Amino acid sequence: MSRRDEIAANLAVVKDRIAAACADAGRDPGEVRLVVVTKYFPASDVRLLADLGVTDVGENRHQEAEAKAAECADLDLTWHFIGGLQSNKAAAVAAYADVVESVDRAKLVAPLARPGRPIDVLLQVSLDPPGREGRAGADPADLAALAAKVAETEPLQMRGLMAVAPLGADPAPAFERLAAIHRDLLVDHPGATWLSAGMSGDLEHAVRHGATHVRIGSAVLGSRPSVQ
Ligand SMILES: *Cc1c(COP(=O)(O)O)cnc(C)c1O
Repeated sequence: MSRRDEIAANLAVVKDRIAAACADAGRDPGEVRLVVVTKYFPASDVRLLADLGVTDVGENRHQEAEAKAAECADLDLTWHFIGGLQSNKAAAVAAYADVVESVDRAKLVAPLARPGRPIDVLLQVSLDPPGREGRAGADPADLAALAAKVAETEPLQMRGLMAVAPLGADPAPAFERLAAIHRDLLVDHPGATWLSAGMSGDLEHAVRHGATHVRIGSAVLGSRPSVQ
């Protein structure tokens, strides 16, 4: 089987899963955007994805993402940055990313704001218990202030929230909590309708709880090299 055939077959399975989850939840599948996470996979795979109709790709490491976006600059793709962001790298990320999903502190906001780059911003919210080691994402209590800062910063577009289900825990209650946090955010930011949640293992739970974007890596591209 060619790499193209393999990716095409996997894409079909993932799209069926999204459609089935939408049907179960009484949602229109057109409300859920598939972001294929291409980290650790080569630019040649990104080309195959674009050719197979994928419109959105996600990357989580700046150097790798920057190189791949440059190699694929001729493709009409929306690039999502979904990884931990250092404030000294934020301006460089904003040069190629169309969507930055992992904004979790105020210090990132000013460097992301580049003239002529109206980037779509999602705030990453932590669904882990406070104090957990390696916790990524803002504390839900800090979101209102962070959202206000993004909303007042030109030319950034305050679009919504992103979250990852807690490791080793049932994703359903976590995504239910995320949906409630999102409803709170929408009171002050009615345009912040995007909710990026769900990965290869838990996309059904995320769709049930209102995800508008799912970030799928291994279910489309196969397992990543174990040295991460
Ligand atoms: C790697 C990654 C994904 C994709 O994970 P899979 O389990 O391979 O689908 C989604 N979101 C984030 C933030 C990631 O880093």
